[in-house]
Amino acid sequence: MKNMEAAYLERPGKIVVRRIPIPSIEENEVLVRVARCGVCMTDVHMYKGSFPVKMPVILGHEFSGTIKKVGEKVTSYANLTGQIPIKIGDRVSAIPIINCGLCPACLRGKSNLCESVQAVGGAGEIVNNGAFAQYIKLPARILYKLPDNLSYTIGAFIEVTACCLHGIDLSRIKLGDSVLLIGAGTVGLLLLELIKFQGPSQIIVSEGISERRKLAKARGADFVIDPMRTDPVNKVKEITSGQGADVVIEAVGSPQTTEQAIQMA
Ligand SMILES: [Zn+2]
Ligand SMILES: [Zn+2]
Repeated sequence: MKNMEAAYLERPGKIVVRRIPIPSIEENEVLVRVARCGVCMTDVHMYKGSFPVKMPVILGHEFSGTIKKVGEKVTSYANLTGQIPIKIGDRVSAIPIINCGLCPACLRGKSNLCESVQAVGGAGEIVNNGAFAQYIKLPARILYKLPDNLSYTIGAFIEVTACCLHGIDLSRIKLGDSVLLIGAGTVGLLLLELIKFQGPSQIIVSEGISERRKLAKARGADFVIDPMRTDPVNKVKEITSGQGADVVIEAVGSPQTTEQAIQMA
């Protein structure tokens, strides 16, 4: 097979599936056959034109797949514990950021702030094609082997879960804190799972969609609030004996919920 199908964002609001040659790889790169790719809110913003990106471009940065070809100079790559020999057929996911590894930011472990950072699948000044395609080529050093017990579907959630984990780290939830989570979409529900590990005294979830409230309740929220029916600020004060939540996590991304977040703390 020489060709593949790829979904190109040609201009805001227009995605076209094109038949193009499977990318050829450089000596430090790996060709991955994409198994799953999630749709991130950033993809939606780029599609709508509310997040700038050079077009045409293949979006998609939350993915998993199988190694199909390995560049001449690639012998090993990372798993959870270190470097392992690379094999065709290995199941992988990737960090969708190509960093230089040498600048001050990279040396401090902040690869996302690299001076010459390139994005995979959008959201950056220099953008490499992403995984809304049958194949993607990537530098071997941004690939990670999926543990055997993780499915491709869960593998495609690794990047977004890592983003959530970073948010949880920044939130500094302490044992016994009351935590309010605004929004129980995909990211909100992932955050909910991570909040539980921090040992909060109570988790309150404010979410306007009833299906999501049900999921949040089933996954361990102590209280769920419908902000369309009750004033969420008053309700949170009531639940927390007038104190407000110790930690508020906003997982919607609207000016209104950001304002609420401050009032409910
Ligand atoms: Zn994303
Ligand atoms: Zn760098």
